[in-house]
Amino acid sequence: ARQFTRPLNELANQYNTLLSAIAGAERVFQIIDEEEEARDEGKAVEIKTLAGKIDFQQVSFSYGKSDSTLRDVSFSISPGETVALVGPTGAGKTTITNLLSRFYELDKGKILIDGQDIEAITRKSLRKQLGFVLQDSFLFQGTILENIRYGRLHASDEEVVEAAKLANAHSFIEKMPRGYDTVLRHDGSGISQGQKQLLSIARAILSDPSILILDEATSSIDTITELKIQDALKNLMRERTSVVVAHRLNTIRQADQILVLDQGQIIEKGTHEELLRQKGFYHGLYHSQLKESS
Ligand code: ADP
Repeated sequence: ARQFTRPLNELANQYNTLLSAIAGAERVFQIIDEEEEARDEGKAVEIKTLAGKIDFQQVSFSYGKSDSTLRDVSFSISPGETVALVGPTGAGKTTITNLLSRFYELDKGKILIDGQDIEAITRKSLRKQLGFVLQDSFLFQGTILENIRYGRLHASDEEVVEAAKLANAHSFIEKMPRGYDTVLRHDGSGISQGQKQLLSIARAILSDPSILILDEATSSIDTITELKIQDALKNLMRERTSVVVAHRLNTIRQADQILVLDQGQIIEKGTHEELLRQKGFYHGLYHSQLKESS
């Protein structure tokens, strides 16, 4: 498959580098948008608002010449639903989020958002509707205020603080000697992994996306921060379509729908209870892996 832009993590690094080099985040957006617009199909339309319905229709995809990474993947997500993607490492969970974000082009099938083929939507307007909270939340060298504001560049200071409060980040920020004016280093050193996540949740709350893409952290975070993250995510995911690469049993249990992937295929679909009753792959996964992580 042809690659349009880099996968999320790489892209995050790219943003980081650019952001350190050029002070203004706005300028960076402009550069990336211009690059992307050049690749949009002539007829691509802008989308302004979304209900957040997602349909994958028999999607197949492979990276380069490798074997197919996704095979005939179909599912539907209703607006506001939370869907947990579950399965072994390498099953294709992240690839699904990469395709939804149009970082790659499909080999076969279609992805629809609110009934519209995503290939007919400009990348820029699509990305505006997507919010990301990734394992490696990307922070750039700048103040905490600027880092959160990156979610919506025209947000006022008050709106940034409001988002930080909803993200349970406000209290730790206030405890820092320079508060919101604390300068974060490019490598994000100086604050904990959990605090980084709270900042990236604040950023996503500020951007108020129609669709949230969440890659749950696998690294261990202290219990108190972990609870803050869970609570902040609840605020962020409420009434918003959320696609979660899920590792925590709690998230999975509460999802409206669990998609179980193995070797690029969806092998089971349902709620936690439904899947346990089936006594299939998920049942096995639950007893061997998920249970102990909760
Ligand atoms: P998961 O998120 O379930 O762990 P991924 O979607 O990341 O799985 O990966 C699915 C498969 O695609 C794996 O075999 C992985 O090695 C491969 N893969 C992932 N990203 C790339 C890439 N950028 N280039 C080539 N292969 C990739």
